[in-house]
Amino acid sequence: MPLYRDEAVVLRTQKLGEADRIVTFLTRGRGRVRAVAKGVRKTSSRLGGRVEPFMLVDVQFYEGRSLDIVTQAETIGAYGLGIAGDYGRYTAGTAMLETAEQLTETGAEPALQLFLLLAGGLRSLASGEHPPGLILDAFLLRALAVAGWAPSFTDCARCGDPGPHRAFALASGGSVCPTCRPSVATAPHPLTLDLLAALLSGDWDVADASGERPRREASGIVAAYLQWHLERQVRSLRLVER
Ligand SMILES: [Zn+2]
Repeated sequence: MPLYRDEAVVLRTQKLGEADRIVTFLTRGRGRVRAVAKGVRKTSSRLGGRVEPFMLVDVQFYEGRSLDIVTQAETIGAYGLGIAGDYGRYTAGTAMLETAEQLTETGAEPALQLFLLLAGGLRSLASGEHPPGLILDAFLLRALAVAGWAPSFTDCARCGDPGPHRAFALASGGSVCPTCRPSVATAPHPLTLDLLAALLSGDWDVADASGERPRREASGIVAAYLQWHLERQVRSLRLVER
């Protein structure tokens, strides 16, 4: 049977013809999937409100020759409602969706860990559990770690010498000891490195208690680290208020 079912986060939608949309999903089992949702722009469509960005849905797909077709969608997490009405949440969420799309390819490997990170991050964003900027930075750091680019914020990223170390170098993978320190290195505030380590490990007590300055410096480092690895800009990151 060319039918399959999967849980998915809606990453993006594009208009197609009069009433249809092409929807880009990050699925639990099949990685990124692009599919046509027919008739969703008609007011009578039952699919309409469900296949919108940020939504977590249980989708049934029909395997097509080029693009698959969405035949059914049931809402699991209506995160769009809690995200779209708040500018801070919306811009953070948009940057998360865009990053998830850039880290995956259509028809490639399943990306279960990334799917779980994204679904968890959007749920947290929609409920206002933590400040949006922190949820975004935690997602970006962990998504990079899942992609094989885990930064180090304590031990030396080159030789493993136990930290904390003062110097930080993006190209070396994070904190560096005096011996491994390249000529281009920065010296972030120790509280910033503590915050980054907390975001990467999911220590929300430390992250939520952090001050404005470490948050701002940490966001700059995360954005630079993301750009270094993706080798291109995540456009929507520029809209996030830091
Ligand atoms: Zn070292």
